[in-house]
Amino acid sequence: MINKSVDSILDRALMGYDMSASEGVFLLQQTDSENISAIRITADRLRKQQVGDTVTYVINRNINFTNICEQHCSFCAFRRDEGEDGVYWLDWAQILAKTTDAVKRGATEICMQGGLNPQAKINGKSLAYYIKLVETIKQDFPHLHLHAFSPQEIQFIAREDGLSYSQVILALQNAGVDSMPGTAAEILDDRVRQILCPEKINTATWLEIVSTAHKLGLSSTSTILSGHIETAEQQISHLEKLRSLQQFAINQGYPGRITEFIILPFVGKEAPKPLRKRVGRDQPVLADALLLTAVARIFLGNWIPNHQPSWVKLGLAGATEALKWGCNDIGGTLMEEHITSMAGAIGGTCMEVSSLQNAIASLQRPDQQRDTLYQPVLTEIMSS
Ligand code: SF4
Repeated sequence: MINKSVDSILDRALMGYDMSASEGVFLLQQTDSENISAIRITADRLRKQQVGDTVTYVINRNINFTNICEQHCSFCAFRRDEGEDGVYWLDWAQILAKTTDAVKRGATEICMQGGLNPQAKINGKSLAYYIKLVETIKQDFPHLHLHAFSPQEIQFIAREDGLSYSQVILALQNAGVDSMPGTAAEILDDRVRQILCPEKINTATWLEIVSTAHKLGLSSTSTILSGHIETAEQQISHLEKLRSLQQFAINQGYPGRITEFIILPFVGKEAPKPLRKRVGRDQPVLADALLLTAVARIFLGNWIPNHQPSWVKLGLAGATEALKWGCNDIGGTLMEEHITSMAGAIGGTCMEVSSLQNAIASLQRPDQQRDTLYQPVLTEIMSS
């Protein structure tokens, strides 16, 4: 039998009320299969009410332009020091070649992020280097959507060049950046950040930079790195901060918004040993990721309607299952993915459109190609 408290929280959610933080924690603490099933069914119903049955996907390419990074996040298997084995730094021609290939394969988006490399400067300026990255893509492909540079990269450029966050965001936007990846959020709790990513921007700075982007007209995504050392309370507090950030953007009439929420479960296979040992496993626990997926739909769905699982982290079968737990989008083709695959993820590094479409069809739900901002793409997919 379904627990009465669970039942009444779910009933209120179905009536359109926002769930409180304590209710969210309570749902995440459920272990009984009937209660968990009721949470899943509610998340699935809310998904249907809020965004319908269609499952969207985007044809995009990831370009991680370098893995040289000054920071040492405890979950990161991607970063290298200069001169170390496996280090790389793409030149302009390589970036253009990857972009050209992506466009030939039907991409509507390039997602570009990289390590924090203090040598990445032109005439001593970081911002000039990042602008050149943008221009390298936009000069030849002005209509391609450039989803680029995390809040951490914005702070890095601002720090290196002595600029404000607004100055950096505006300059990148003027050069051609179209939206901001909501990465580097990890868990928005400074106690957890001290262990996961002590050199990264803190919670307040992350929120400040994303809110500044919204104010200046750049939409962002939002993410959570789940399934490591964080508690249910810290997960819900993270969701609460994202919900407030979106409410603030809406109340202020900012032109930029959070377009989607993505759960990124921790993959520890190749991650640095201390954190891997502390977490005690190499791959995500699918059941935990699915329960969080459902609770996130119930908690955020009134404000952030699009929810995406990570096929890179969960594998395509896990991501397809998540479409029954509140997700309405299956993400992008990526074409190449380095950051998670280097951590030992099972999902692979690229996905064919047909594989995504088949996964969606297996649930008897319609698919739709979308652009980065969730507008339908109606043109025919170009063959490679
Ligand atoms: S997660 Fe990003 S900032 Fe942290 S070490 Fe890896 S590349 Fe650097």
